Amino acid sequence: MRLRDLPSISAVLATPAASTLLDRHGRAATTDALRAVLAEARAALLAGGDTVPDTETVVALALTRLESASRSNLRPLFNLTGTVLHTNLGRALLAPEAMEAALAAMGDPVALEFDLDSGKRGERDDHVRALVCELTGAEDATVVNNNAAAVLLALNTLAKGRDAIVSRGELIEIGGAFRMPDIMAQAGARLVEVGTTNRTHAKDYKGALTAETGVILKVHTSNYRIQGFTKEVLAPELADIAHGAGVPLLNDLGSGTLVDLSTHGLKREPTVREAVAEGADLVTFSGDKLLGGPQAGFIVGRRDLVAAVNRNPMKRALRVDKVRLAAIEATLKLYRDPDRLAQRLPTLALLSRPKAEIEAQARRLAPILAQALAQGVGDGHTVEVCDCASQIGSGALPLDTLPSAGLAVRAGGGALTQLAASFRALSRPIIGRIEEGRLVLDLRCLRDEAGFVATLAELSRP
Ligand SMILES: *Cc1c(COP(=O)(O)O)cnc(C)c1O
Repeated sequence: MRLRDLPSISAVLATPAASTLLDRHGRAATTDALRAVLAEARAALLAGGDTVPDTETVVALALTRLESASRSNLRPLFNLTGTVLHTNLGRALLAPEAMEAALAAMGDPVALEFDLDSGKRGERDDHVRALVCELTGAEDATVVNNNAAAVLLALNTLAKGRDAIVSRGELIEIGGAFRMPDIMAQAGARLVEVGTTNRTHAKDYKGALTAETGVILKVHTSNYRIQGFTKEVLAPELADIAHGAGVPLLNDLGSGTLVDLSTHGLKREPTVREAVAEGADLVTFSGDKLLGGPQAGFIVGRRDLVAAVNRNPMKRALRVDKVRLAAIEATLKLYRDPDRLAQRLPTLALLSRPKAEIEAQARRLAPILAQALAQGVGDGHTVEVCDCASQIGSGALPLDTLPSAGLAVRAGGGALTQLAASFRALSRPIIGRIEEGRLVLDLRCLRDEAGFVATLAELSRP
């Protein structure tokens, strides 16, 4: 038994090597880590082991522990899944202009609800209202936490205790707990379903209108398409029906885009401006989908209805903070210069990246990945350049994939899941997807190629 040869915590703390630990992590965390390392060493000795770690080894083990515990799970990673707006990976990447604005707002007071001209109280929406109205043609606008909040708040304002009429073909689930019928129930609106899954007619809406109707809701079926024998009532006609009965039309666009995507080589998705022009009284859309900003939800439309939304006490619970507001404002400003938007807005830059460019990148990186795997993980892997089909993600244009390229790794046995796990364990995790017996890294979203190469080099270190 050599338990007494183990150094004590105070002895380790007194060594010069321990001062690095203390400097970086403080006394409490350092002592905890040393205690854990020594407890493990003691257990190993009791189990029959015969190596007593010296103080340097103890310090090194404690350092590894402390560093891995202090590493954030929210640290940046490489999204090589092929889904550009990946909800689980945080959706849109902010433009440098938006990051700068957010950073500036973080550490200092800002005139969030303060009018610098008059010295009186202002409204936080004032910072983006004019911009949103300019870009969408709406009379008024407000911003909340996300689009789910926007829909909840708009419905609660327009139809609490009243009927909300919606087509059976539009009762969508977005994912997670966002199901339209549940949101309507939480908003206090009574769901009145009309039509059938594949066909809803004008007469279906008309037949459901009563004195109890609070709103007609139209939902953009972002994440699926009904094809074949189908019929939907388009927004302009639905607006006429709603207005004929004196009720508002709420159009939930979901992603909502501020520009015509076909000018950027993508399929068209309805723009917010179109939805407003088609007669919707309120339109809701997300900030971090195609718009390319931070998480946010916009409610735009008629001035009297936006005012009613702002008077709703729920608004306070759903509003955005100064940091996001600053990022939203800076993002929206980029839209004033449509010619350079695709260069400046990362979401659009990634979505419109030409396949040839991605393929050239894949050719550059294939030998580098192959070498890193051979040195670090061992033989038995093959790496080849492959065609990919990227997705926009977040439910936008679900049927339209973008031709892309990437790297496909093949490995024997259960090695692929093991390999995917090693990629996830890197200091900057690399996230791909396993498909047809290959680990595929779609390179559409790889912006920092040098950083990627440096991260791959970690594979070949012990
Ligand atoms: C994505 C989406 C939502 C939810 O928006 P979040 O910004 O994720 O809260 C609501 N409705 C539709 C149609 C959507 O596509």
